[in-house]
Amino acid sequence: MIQRIKGFKDILPGEVELWQYIESTAKKIFDNFGFKEIRLPILERAELFAKSIGENTDIVEKEMYTFPDRKGNFVTMRPEATASVVRSYIQHKMSGKDPVRKFYTIGPMFRRERPQKGRYRQFYQINAEVFGIESPMIDAQLIFILTILFNELSVTDVKIHINSLGCQKCRPQFKEILLNFLRSKTESLCSDCLRRYEKNPLRVLDCKVPSCKEATLKAPSIIDSLCNDCKKHFKTVTRCLDKLQVEYEINKNLVRGLDYYTRTTFEIQTASLGAQNAIAGGGRYDSLTKSLNGPDMPAIGFAIGFDRLAEMISAKAAELLINPDLFIAALGEKSQAMAFEWINSLCFRGITTEMDFSDKSLKSQMKRADKLGSKFVLIAGDKEREKGAAILRNMTTREQLAIPLANLIEEIETIIKK
Ligand code: AMP
Repeated sequence: MIQRIKGFKDILPGEVELWQYIESTAKKIFDNFGFKEIRLPILERAELFAKSIGENTDIVEKEMYTFPDRKGNFVTMRPEATASVVRSYIQHKMSGKDPVRKFYTIGPMFRRERPQKGRYRQFYQINAEVFGIESPMIDAQLIFILTILFNELSVTDVKIHINSLGCQKCRPQFKEILLNFLRSKTESLCSDCLRRYEKNPLRVLDCKVPSCKEATLKAPSIIDSLCNDCKKHFKTVTRCLDKLQVEYEINKNLVRGLDYYTRTTFEIQTASLGAQNAIAGGGRYDSLTKSLNGPDMPAIGFAIGFDRLAEMISAKAAELLINPDLFIAALGEKSQAMAFEWINSLCFRGITTEMDFSDKSLKSQMKRADKLGSKFVLIAGDKEREKGAAILRNMTTREQLAIPLANLIEEIETIIKK
């Protein structure tokens, strides 16, 4: 038997309704806030991610599905969406007429991480990206949108962490301060952090290894090193969040695993998912568009972990199952032929109808109707047909009604749509 690949999963009926529900809820909110959907390829040139996410990050160093195609060109299955959205924004010269663009996109991402609950090699994200707005108000609005979505989905056990990573003016200075601090802690750092802390000291703040966490407890805070512009920006973000009555916590160790972030970064965490506690993250990436040879354009975005969100509200899946409105239990060849016409007309009119395409007994067909949770059953056999009718049974009240064959479709439609 050929099995699916480790870390990849099938989303089956029974679970997929929940995914559709989350998707439609998110789409509604994005529509309300003026975001437009964008759909982008899964395969991109490998250098797009190395250049944007950063060479010294876990994703680029260890996790990307990168391989040469048949012509020997290196391609990567996207590990995240922002780089592709930026590539598309530049490629289609979207900054031209009106540089302000608000996008959302929903789809699979690929990272070769060690699979465990809440961590997959193919996982899904809901992404939002905004280009062309420097104002910190948009930072707060994006976080507000996340809170609305979680509220709408009744996800309550969440905490918003925010931080600022400064800009190209003030971050180099902080890096030096942090480096000096880390040099005194080298005996506590894990091998990954030891290898790359000189190049990328901020990543140590984000490391999940307990000894690194312990070592950075008293690390200097980037908030104290922000330049005046960054300080003002961060202050306005927090003020706007207060105005919107969004609760948050300032977390000086929140740096996130991608190099392109500047200024505001945020992460939504939950206590109800175990080790994989981040359900969404995002931040500003004001210099990314320029660094990919595009215009100098401020931008900000977020990514929600779709799989984790679905796990948090998995109990809702049962409520969302759609049961058939009608099951036609047709007995005998002639009745089956009639039922075949009915089922197609009824489905066409929006009445979910099922039938058994076999000669099973009435008892076994009723059993199947029951199992499918059908609201009504139409019993059509020779005896009924001779009387010019079929019997409609309401499976909840157990009432039965003779429906004349002459205008059966219209009568059933009226009863079921009532
Ligand atoms: P990131 O791009 O790493 O900031 O990820 C954004 C969100 O995607 C995280 O907060 C997670 O909810 C989700 N996520 C990231 N990696 C995985 C994974 N391997 N499996 C499932 N969800 C993930």
